[in-house]
Amino acid sequence: MADYLEAVKRTGGEPLELDYHRDHPDGVVTRTAGLLLTGGGDVDPTLYGEAPHETFQASEPGRDEYEIALIKAAVKAALPIFAICRGMQVLNVALGGTLVQDISTMVNGAAHHATPSTEPRFTIAHEVWVAKGSRLAALMAEKMDSDTCQVNSRHHQAVNKPAPGWEITGTAPDGVIEAMEHPGDVFRMAVQWHPENFWRTGEFRPLFEAFIDAARSKAV
Ligand code: MN
Repeated sequence: MADYLEAVKRTGGEPLELDYHRDHPDGVVTRTAGLLLTGGGDVDPTLYGEAPHETFQASEPGRDEYEIALIKAAVKAALPIFAICRGMQVLNVALGGTLVQDISTMVNGAAHHATPSTEPRFTIAHEVWVAKGSRLAALMAEKMDSDTCQVNSRHHQAVNKPAPGWEITGTAPDGVIEAMEHPGDVFRMAVQWHPENFWRTGEFRPLFEAFIDAARSKAV
């Protein structure tokens, strides 16, 4: 959690950590200016109509339902959303998409997406091809080399069918979806890697800056 907080603070944001036993989604969206969704365990696949794969590892009890309600409330309130790792997955499920339940057994020629926790959290794992013309491409323009960026990777699931209206903006060499965004005026972006782990060196600072700027213009 420390890296999420640092990444937000270093770009001028004031993070408010939510307690899903205490903070009702409808109340949260009236007193915050943006929603950052963080990493964690697997989303219950019954929520998108599938039986659990043998590798399924549930999140904290109640977290799926809480975050799904929060995402729906945030969309309704037109809050800027930045979703990271599990955050991207739960956002996709909340808005009608599905997930690949286990990349290594379900994707042919899968890259190494599950860096062990013994490695530094900013260890580069694979590249991501960024879609031309996307918001992600515009934000990362100065940092990219030939439409690609190098990312870390600590996930065994990924987006399968994107939620309606969302566009795929980043893919790994094995085809795994690594980024998506919702076109339109409200900042809504999701990435499968962990940009927050790079707050010291700034590789993904433009993403946090854009999110915080969007939240600032939303705040009254
Ligand atoms: Mn990955």
